[in-house]
Amino acid sequence: MGCVHCGRVVEPAFRYCPWCGAVQRRKLVDFFPGHPTIDPGRALRVSRYVATRDQEPHVRFSVWDESGEARGVVSLTEDEAERLGLFLRLGRGTRRLRDAVERLVAR
Ligand SMILES: [Zn+2]
Repeated sequence: MGCVHCGRVVEPAFRYCPWCGAVQRRKLVDFFPGHPTIDPGRALRVSRYVATRDQEPHVRFSVWDESGEARGVVSLTEDEAERLGLFLRLGRGTRRLRDAVERLVAR
């Protein structure tokens, strides 16, 4: 496999390119467990693929079932993933606002 930065051959086990020192990480992955009562046992895996010489940056979402199999996959552009992040943060802000209003009303 080629170095993500300089393109020279790098063994897959190497985390850094021995020629230029660039980190060879191509993606970051995290798991998010499903809602405990709505989707127990299921999970969302999110993989952020970084831009390399041979890879377009994107974010890939996969839904995993109770048996550990991926049941659906979709990849978003970085712009759409950013929009998703804003959408999720907006929801939190709305909940905080609603909580603040409820606290005021309760007084
Ligand atoms: Zn390199």
